[in-house]
Amino acid sequence: MIELKKLPYEMNALEPYIDAKTVEFHYTKHHQWYVNKLNWLIAWTEFENLSLEEIVLKSTWAIFNNAAQVWNHTFYRDWMKAGWSTISGDILGKIESKFWSFDAFKSLFSEFALSNFGSWWTRLVKNQSWELEIINTSNADSPLTKWLIPLLTIDIREHAYYLKYQNLRADYVNNRWNLINRDRVNTLFW
Ligand code: MN
Repeated sequence: MIELKKLPYEMNALEPYIDAKTVEFHYTKHHQWYVNKLNWLIAWTEFENLSLEEIVLKSTWAIFNNAAQVWNHTFYRDWMKAGWSTISGDILGKIESKFWSFDAFKSLFSEFALSNFGSWWTRLVKNQSWELEIINTSNADSPLTKWLIPLLTIDIREHAYYLKYQNLRADYVNNRWNLINRDRVNTLFW
């Protein structure tokens, strides 16, 4: 039985960049739905008593899709925090050496997110050689199964922004830069 983890902030904590209604719908409808579906699928199976990460790593098809989306959404929402628009510390140096500057990195990441046609997630990840990469993935594809450590992600399905931004995905993507939970990013980087 997998539980939907509590939202670590109030519904309106990401305003004005992501409005309370969007957070509420994303959390109580979409995220919760993946949890419910997953629990229904794993009942009476070998996955029933595994952790969410174990299920992501060991399952396939529908169970994998729902487990990965539960994990992906928890990561996405927990790694946002209002009031932070920069990255500090060691990861900043790594970003500057890989992408030239933090601004150049932001432009490239935003470009990936905007060109992620029909897809679901854009991510900054650390690969097994400890190099940074920006990747686009579709459906429930999981960084865990590729042995990648996600550092920053954005959900670019319409349900993540449509209530506030309608078709203006670029504005949503650009505002993601005002929601960097840099303490968590730093923790994950090392
Ligand atoms: Mn979503």
